[in-house]
Amino acid sequence: MSEKRGGQHYGCVGVGVGPANLSLASLLHGDTTVPNLFLDRKTSFSWHDGQQMPDTTLQVSMLKDLVSLADPTNRFSFLAYLHAQGKMYHFINAQFDAMPRQEFRNYLTWAAEQNENVVFGERVLSVDFDTTFVVRTDRRTLTADNLSIGVGTAPWYPDVARDLPGDDHFHVSDFVTKASDLAGRRVCVVGGGQSGAEAFLDLISRPVAERPRRVTWVTRRRNYFPMDDSPFTNDFYTPSYSDYFARLSSETRGQLNEAHVLTSDGISEATLRQIYQRVYVQRFLEEGPDLVALHPHSEVVRVGRGATGDWCVDLRNSDHGGRVTSLETDVVVWATGFRPAAMKFLEPIAHRLERERDELSIDDSFAVRWDGPTDRNIFVHNAAPHQRGLADRNLSLIAWRSRRIADRMRKVRSDEPLGSFMEWSAKEDRSPLLPGALR
Ligand SMILES: Cc1cc2nc3c(=O)[nH]c(=O)nc-3n(C[C@H](O)[C@H](O)[C@H](O)COP(=O)(O)OP(=O)(O)OC[C@H]3O[C@@H](n4cnc5c(N)ncnc54)[C@H](O)[C@@H]3O)c2cc1C
Repeated sequence: MSEKRGGQHYGCVGVGVGPANLSLASLLHGDTTVPNLFLDRKTSFSWHDGQQMPDTTLQVSMLKDLVSLADPTNRFSFLAYLHAQGKMYHFINAQFDAMPRQEFRNYLTWAAEQNENVVFGERVLSVDFDTTFVVRTDRRTLTADNLSIGVGTAPWYPDVARDLPGDDHFHVSDFVTKASDLAGRRVCVVGGGQSGAEAFLDLISRPVAERPRRVTWVTRRRNYFPMDDSPFTNDFYTPSYSDYFARLSSETRGQLNEAHVLTSDGISEATLRQIYQRVYVQRFLEEGPDLVALHPHSEVVRVGRGATGDWCVDLRNSDHGGRVTSLETDVVVWATGFRPAAMKFLEPIAHRLERERDELSIDDSFAVRWDGPTDRNIFVHNAAPHQRGLADRNLSLIAWRSRRIADRMRKVRSDEPLGSFMEWSAKEDRSPLLPGALR
């Protein structure tokens, strides 16, 4: 793709164009005080296309688009998209309980295409610093006062799945292409989150002629647990909680992320209902051969080839002294999650950046703490759940986070939304009780 803007120096260069950086690109669009350019290695915009199964939906409110929660009048809002497409009334009348994932992807694609500062087909190879950032791509060299890194996540496999040969096992991120032709085969889906649930539902819902012979669903969790999407829980996904969380000790933050994992990584109740109803119909109404096997509380501890070349998957259930049972399958789908993507391009300056555990250490503006000048910053999106909580990797805060980042570059501070109804922090004790009094 050719350069869309003249000149090689920018106020901000973005690495990666997923929803996170696209949100910042949308907020900065038209702002001549921060000339900006956002680069993505992909040839065109896509959003989890390998998991765009029919009937999948967005797991957050439709208001959590690229910009609305920070700048509701912005031209890149979801409403502006519906309006531009002439389908506002149709969308209202469709009465979706949750937005189709495909529609959100189409909205994001529209926003990327409308923004001349967003460029595809250009990979960032390295970043160095010499009074400004020097960004080398596979096409050119640019300089920038600030960088915004939004490289998202990469598929994650458990140790037992690493280095396994063959293409009859794959990560769920490739589901649409690799799971298209599984008629008559035995398939084992590993992973009890939303992605595993969607893969399982898709497989057991196929027309009879396209359906696998057996579909097994395995999870380490004690059950197929729902995502907690209730009002008070959703306070964890607000700006004020994000700021509160960031000030807690590292140990407490780690404990909270573990304790609250189902607020983000559980399964939508609608998906669970669909699965249960599908299993009911299959077992009691269609009375076909046993299609489904469900193994909660089972950890995959070994995977190897059986005598006939199929997969032998060993499962351990800790309720029974760690007893191991084996199941045979033709195909394994690893729905075992994602982890923040590596940022190898930062290697030339990596020694100058502070870290916290395995994350880059960030301040309140999501700028990496480093030994460089304070007006030259590297902002990171979606890469610091240990510091900002589970919301960091979710769509909930992308508009707010982008505005914080934009504010820092513009040297302004926008108004923050009102705080929570709840008192998250212990207030300073203003009237200490007498020693020995009950607390
Ligand atoms: C199937 C699925 C559905 C999800 N649904 C929801 C949901 O409903 N609600 C929710 O809150 N969250 C959801 N999430 C979680 C999260 O919101 C998304 O993963 C979101 O896409 C993260 O956005 P991102 O911009 O950080 O990263 P990504 O969308 O992963 O984008 C990163 C981009 O960086 C590019 N890139 C990487 N390295 C380079 C480089 N060196 N040079 C140039 N470009 C580079 C990549 O090509 C990619 O396009 C979902 C996740 C998945 C996997």
